[in-house]
This record gives sequence, structure tokens and C-alpha cells, in this order.
Amino acid sequence: ELGYDEPSPPPPAPFASNGKPTTKPTGKPTLQDFQFGRTLGEGAYSTVKLGTSRTDGKQYAVKVITKSHLIRAHKTETAAAERKALIRLNGHPGIVSLYHAFQDEWSLYFVIDLASNGEMQSLISRLGSLSTACAQYYAAQIADALEYMHSKDVIHRDLKPENLLLDDAFRIKITDFGTGKVLENGAQRATTFVGTAQYQAPELLELKETTKRSSFYLSAAPFVALTSQYSSDYWAFGCVVYQMIAGRFAFNDRSDYLTWQKVKKVEYEFPNGFDEQAKNLVQQLLVHDPLKRLGAGPRGSSNDPSALKSHTFFASIVWASLWTDPAPAIE
Ligand code: ATP
Repeated sequence: ELGYDEPSPPPPAPFASNGKPTTKPTGKPTLQDFQFGRTLGEGAYSTVKLGTSRTDGKQYAVKVITKSHLIRAHKTETAAAERKALIRLNGHPGIVSLYHAFQDEWSLYFVIDLASNGEMQSLISRLGSLSTACAQYYAAQIADALEYMHSKDVIHRDLKPENLLLDDAFRIKITDFGTGKVLENGAQRATTFVGTAQYQAPELLELKETTKRSSFYLSAAPFVALTSQYSSDYWAFGCVVYQMIAGRFAFNDRSDYLTWQKVKKVEYEFPNGFDEQAKNLVQQLLVHDPLKRLGAGPRGSSNDPSALKSHTFFASIVWASLWTDPAPAIE
């Protein structure tokens, strides 16, 4: 029903009156170039399938996005945003690479890196929490990927353990740029609500309230949006570090509304035994002022991403071989 059982016939080639094709073959892959296997997961508008290339035998994850679902939910820009962000970010080991994007009558197909060890969320649930060594390793990989992402002017905006995938060597692959934002020429409009309550930075909640209250504030919002959304990824990163070690959310309550009340007051507690260096790191990330979060200052300033990377929590990390060294024992 999604198109791969019943591949669409190739579109009729437009022929000129002399019988020769008027368009050159593009060499772009199509559905027929992949053999589909099991379903890796389901999203709101998509199914992710294991796909083996018939050309080189390599395995990929193929995200199949049903066009009719997208159109019905007015989400066509989500798929476009994801493709745009992934194209811009291609090449960093900590971010899923997009190899091909094509479509047929029914669906869009994104051929991306296969992350065969699933989501960080499942790992945390399975283990209860991660060892300090594991948390250091994963926090370092996320920090490195964030630095790259932001250097390319891309904000993720929905960083959370469900979007941190693990590849066959148990290294991080950040995914789900559907709510991401590619900054262009510094000019940005304020945007509507994105993200997940437990990881959402206070300024995004406040911005949402401000823009709702008065259209006057909308004109002032672009600057707010620019500075705060960028550093909201660092807030979410703080929540993720907390969760890897504590095994539970930093901010959570019975409803999103109650969770937001805690977020706005930066009201959270560390469980007993929480690693001291990690505690210090989290305290420097979960800061109300977006620009004071560790690593979230302008590039070249004393609070740029290198400040984050030199935190003592990362003292044992060898940054130069972060993506080639084997992962620590997963425990
Ligand atoms: P939504 O679209 O509702 O926000 P989502 O972003 O999780 O959800 P997808 O990106 O379509 O949706 O992913 C659906 C599921 O497929 C994920 O939860 C994940 O478990 C799995 N998945 C996604 N990408 C990959 C990948 N590259 N390798 C392996 N599994 C993947």
C-alpha cells in the first residue's frame, strides 16, 4: 500500500517526433534499485524499511513518506526541511547521511544510513541508566555533532533519546531533522511550537506565549528566535545527559503543562550518586539564559563549543579519535 509491493511503473519517457527521448536518463536511483526487508520503525507520516541496494549490496534505512498523509496533515514542509538539513549536514559521522532522495506517485523515499542498534531511548530503558563511561562517550559524540550542526547553521529543535540512533558499532547517529531549521542570511521568522515538552527550553515556551499574546511582538521575534532556538539544542542536550545518567527525565510531570511549569523555573533534582562532573556539566547546560549555556555562545567567544568540549566531564575523551575508537562496554 506504501508503494514498494506495487512499484510504480516508470513514467512514460517523453519522446520527440523522431522517436528519440527528449530527456537524458539522470542515473538517479529509483525504487527498483532497492530490495526491501523488514520494517525498522514507524513515524507519524512514514515507515522506515531496511533496504539493500541491488547495485552494491549495501544496507540502508529507507524512509518511506506517504505523500497523501503529508498533504492531509499539511506537513509537506516537514519532509522538505528534513531533506534540506540532511543535505547540508552530509558528511559528519554523528549525523545520518542522506544518500538518495527520490519519489514516485505515492511516496517520497529517503535513503539514509542504517542505524542497526536502534534508539538511545531503548538502550536507556533496557539498562535503566548508562555507566559514567558510556554517558561520557555518548555525550561527547552528541556535543561533537551539535558543534558541527550549528557550524552549518542548522538547529535540530527536537533533540531527545528517540532521535539519537546507534549504528552497528554503537556510535551515535542523530536523526529526525523534520522539525530542524536551516538558518539563511540570519533572517528568521518566529516559528510555531516544536519539540517535546521534557526537552523544551524555557525561552521557547516564553516565545510561544509572547507571540500568541500580541502580533506586535512578532516583529521583534526573529532575533529572539535566532539566538534562543540555536541554544535550545544545548538545553535539550543537558536533559539528555541527565537522562542517560539518572535513567529518568530531568523535567517531567503529569501533563505537558505541569512539565512546562518546572522547565520555566528550572526545577529539577539530581538523584543520589549522580556523577559529580556530570552534575556540574548539566548545571551549566540547564541554565535559564540561553546564551549562558555552556558551549552556546557565539563562535570564537569564550563560551563557544570548545568550552563545552573542555569541560572536566570529558577529560578522558580523545576528541581526535572519537569516531574511530571502539565504543566502551555498553552498560
Ligand atoms: P515522527 O515522524 O512521528 O516524528 P520519527 O521521527 O521517529 O517519528 P521516523 O524518522 O520515520 O519517524 O522513524 C521511525 C522509526 O524508525 C524511528 O523511531 C526509528 O526507530 C526507526 N528509524 C528511523 N531511522 C532509522 C535509521 N536510519 N536506521 C534504523 N532505524 C531507523
